[in-house]
Amino acid sequence: MAEPYVIKMPQLSDTMTEGVLVSWEKQLGDRVERGDVVATVETDKAIMDVEVFQSGYLSGPLLAPDSTVPVGTVMGYLVEDPAQVHQSAAGAPLPSSSASSQPVSSPAPATIETQNEKTPAIAGQAIKMPQLSDTMTEGVLVSWEKQPGDRIERGDVVATVETDKAIMDVEVFQSGYLSGPLLAPDSTIPVGEPIAYLVESPEQVLQETHKVPSTPAPTGIEVAPKPLPATPTVSTFNPAATPAPSQQNDARPAPRPSHRPASPYARLLAGQRGMSLEGMTGSGPAGVIIAADVLGANTTSSSGSTPTVLPIPGEGRPMTAIEKAVSQSMTASLSIPVFHVTIHVQLDALSRIAKAQGASVTVALAKAASVALTRHPLVNACYQPGDRIIDNRPHDIGIAATTDDGGLVVPVLRDVAEQSLSALQKQWLPLLEKARKRRLRPEEYQHPTFTISNMGMYGVSQFDAIVTPGTAAILAIAAKGPQGMPITITADHRVINGAEAASFLRDLKSAIEHPETWAGSLGPVIPEGDFDTQVLVIGAGPGGEDCARELAEHGIQVTMVNNAPLPGGECLWRGCIPSKAWRAAADRIRNRAHDAMMGLHLGEPQLDWEQLEKHRRGIVQTRGEMALKTDQGVKIQVLEGFAHFTSPHSVEITGKDARTLRFGACVIATGAPAYVPPIPGAQEALANKAAVTSDTIWELSAPPKRLCIIGAGAIGMEMAQMFHDFGAEVLVLEALPRAVAEMEKEVAEQLLAAIGRNSPRLTVLTGIKVAAIAGEPGQVRIRYSQNEDAVLEYEADLLLIATGKHPDTRGLQLEQAGVQLGERGAIAVDSSCRTNVSHIYAVGDVIGGYMLAHTAAQQGRVAAHNLLGEPARYDASKDCGVTFTRPEVAFVGLSSEQAKATGFDVTEVKVPLSIDAKAMMTGETDGLIKLVADKKSHRILGVHFLADHADTLVGEAVLMVHGEMTLEQVASAIHPHPTQTELFGELARRLLSRLRRSARAGH
Ligand SMILES: Cc1cc2nc3c(=O)[nH]c(=O)nc-3n(C[C@H](O)[C@H](O)[C@H](O)COP(=O)(O)OP(=O)(O)OC[C@H]3O[C@@H](n4cnc5c(N)ncnc54)[C@H](O)[C@@H]3O)c2cc1C
Repeated sequence: MAEPYVIKMPQLSDTMTEGVLVSWEKQLGDRVERGDVVATVETDKAIMDVEVFQSGYLSGPLLAPDSTVPVGTVMGYLVEDPAQVHQSAAGAPLPSSSASSQPVSSPAPATIETQNEKTPAIAGQAIKMPQLSDTMTEGVLVSWEKQPGDRIERGDVVATVETDKAIMDVEVFQSGYLSGPLLAPDSTIPVGEPIAYLVESPEQVLQETHKVPSTPAPTGIEVAPKPLPATPTVSTFNPAATPAPSQQNDARPAPRPSHRPASPYARLLAGQRGMSLEGMTGSGPAGVIIAADVLGANTTSSSGSTPTVLPIPGEGRPMTAIEKAVSQSMTASLSIPVFHVTIHVQLDALSRIAKAQGASVTVALAKAASVALTRHPLVNACYQPGDRIIDNRPHDIGIAATTDDGGLVVPVLRDVAEQSLSALQKQWLPLLEKARKRRLRPEEYQHPTFTISNMGMYGVSQFDAIVTPGTAAILAIAAKGPQGMPITITADHRVINGAEAASFLRDLKSAIEHPETWAGSLGPVIPEGDFDTQVLVIGAGPGGEDCARELAEHGIQVTMVNNAPLPGGECLWRGCIPSKAWRAAADRIRNRAHDAMMGLHLGEPQLDWEQLEKHRRGIVQTRGEMALKTDQGVKIQVLEGFAHFTSPHSVEITGKDARTLRFGACVIATGAPAYVPPIPGAQEALANKAAVTSDTIWELSAPPKRLCIIGAGAIGMEMAQMFHDFGAEVLVLEALPRAVAEMEKEVAEQLLAAIGRNSPRLTVLTGIKVAAIAGEPGQVRIRYSQNEDAVLEYEADLLLIATGKHPDTRGLQLEQAGVQLGERGAIAVDSSCRTNVSHIYAVGDVIGGYMLAHTAAQQGRVAAHNLLGEPARYDASKDCGVTFTRPEVAFVGLSSEQAKATGFDVTEVKVPLSIDAKAMMTGETDGLIKLVADKKSHRILGVHFLADHADTLVGEAVLMVHGEMTLEQVASAIHPHPTQTELFGELARRLLSRLRRSARAGH
């Protein structure tokens, strides 16, 4: 070793700017081997070893223990020969040797340093490569903004430099004249090295320029750029006055690990070996990673914990600063244990709201992410070395962007949670502009708390991004596919568990698909253009008609096409209304059973089927005509015909009002026909009218005497009991283990028990497999087996196939419009009833779920409001229904099972009608009312009925559930006496009392 090796105060943590020399671990003159610990220093975090990179003999002057000295200041020397050892022991801090070696990266920016005493050849002050980011260890001089000899004022920008992240201005905080030697543009130089000088007078100006190799010498080795004058020290050896010894291996030190400090030598060794220090165990004081750890880890690298460096043939070019920074950051991220979760989202609503509010989709995505982060703060937290979590951070969202020259930068939108979309857009535009030119300042790209990377514009179908230290998650956005746009979160498992990530994605999906919940109105969403009508509604059942009326009431030009002469759909012509007209007649017959109990003898009821049918037909015809008049009265253009799509904005209508029609937006409300399962003989029986469905039962010339019904759902059971009450013997065959399986379990059980008591000619068999159907009208044979037993045969004069309803959209030619189906042939929609095509909505039976008239109507209004730009959602958890058996079944909201599945901690209370005075009076004592509430909030989540007049009683319960009322509110409401509504107050008070008692008991 010809020249002494300088031992300096190392920078052992990102935040360390000075250190206290605690002890010398070697004595003056001691032989020191490469990797030996020569001293310990106290940083801002711990006491750590100082290792050396060379062998030699410890030489003075040595810094005195307990001295506090800035990072980079000389503490001692190593000499080659014992004879060269300078015995000067400890003293005051030795002058900084900034132009000479530094074991670790340079201290925080100190861009000007007086050179006079150190560089006698050059008068003035050195302008140094500033440290412009935490991770910056070197910079590339991009340009000089001033020329040698120019007058420089305090605050002037003299040059631009490229850091690991951006191109930034170099300002000076002194005045003077710019003087050489000036670093040549394109030179790469470590932080802290002089790039030029400031002198006091024009006469002192030097015009020289110097260049350093584009690949800098590794930090920790003398790198004084030639021909810069070497930095003198007080040492007699003037250790840095001559060129530094060159490093044998010119690799750079490995990045500082995020989990614990590492000694400079450990970093250098790791860098030379291509190893990452992330996750490595440290055996030094306070767990610091030292050289021995690296060497130890290296020998065990075959275990797979550290990568093996394989020789790569060829002549590589040096990486740019940004490439190196990305490479190091990615290497550091290798130790983060991550997992990935993907969900698909529809972006249309977010795009619309972004457009309406003048923001880019990128900014809107960041805002949506922030909405979800608010509910999942851990996703915005991060792991801190030493097994700590940093949370409660503002939402500083980094968004990966490409630079004009193809690089990658991540500008950070600050405090996203606290700002509106338009404010964020204002913040984003200049950031993006600077990012493209790589002119971001550190505060504009440093320390994101969450990151978004969007590759959707490149058409990639899916990808995942890499979490970097300082964040716990990154979101990768790919291009829209058949299921929507895949968004994938990569999460640090030390901070976020799988459920948290999944639930974050679910909330993010909701925030993206329903931006109206956080960003206000979507604005008008009916596309403008050369259309025949603003909105086309296909189907005039409850869904289509309510939608069309709502739109027309708001001044929208609506056309409604329906393939029947009058509106009303299934509900009016084949469903709710005609079936309840029959039920009303059956009720009169049934009520006679109670007459005798009250001492009344009105005689045996006689059914005049013809008169009943006339009555029923009169109702539906009258209501159909009334409906048409109302529709036309509110200025809906009503067309009769069958519509199918020919493009996303046009349909062809065949039938009476045949035409082609171009529309701005469309609502599909085409219902769902009865489903016929593939039972041998079923289609033939339907064709010859031996069998009917709920669509075709309305042409009976007389009620059947022996009726078989396949399917014990709501329609099957209503029909079964009605025809029983009209006098028929009825057999119901159900495939499932229990009848009315969709009803609350106890309600269903009690209904079957009540039917067993009150409907003697009605038999319900479960676990049935129907093998075949055969026969003529009036004589149909149904072969079936129960629970795999022997095959039996039932002969009836009518078979009703009541096995549910399935949407059938084949005739609509949805593919022409690009509308996609979901499960079981239903059109897929979100809770705003929007399909995957943003201007096409679908409502009612055609979207599946509860196939009920009021559900369809509500969804129709929801679609209308969304088209009007007023956010609305259909909430199935508050929907309701009535099955018109005797007793009636009704429900609103959730059953206990459903509520539990949604995450509520529920409790329920019930009352049998047998104890109710009003029920006793009328003899309608079968049944119960059950109330389901959330234990914590006492909110009423559901009410379930088996009670005669449940169709009326459920109304109050609907308001309880819809209004999210509590037990306390219902308990204190005054109910009229004597009515069955009093039972609601009773139930609420009873449950409250129970909850109070169990709370006292500590349950
Ligand atoms: C026997 C029975 C009893 C019922 N009882 C009740 C009850 O008590 N309470 C209750 O809430 N619900 C009941 N329902 C269910 C209720 O009838 C439906 O849920 C409701 O009618 C669905 O409304 P919708 O608007 O979705 O469709 P629908 O009422 O079926 O209306 C769809 C309309 O679109 C038309 N159409 C279809 N395709 C096209 C096309 N391509 N072009 C033009 N027009 C088209 C159809 O002809 C129809 O007029 C009952 C159903 C049945 C079968």
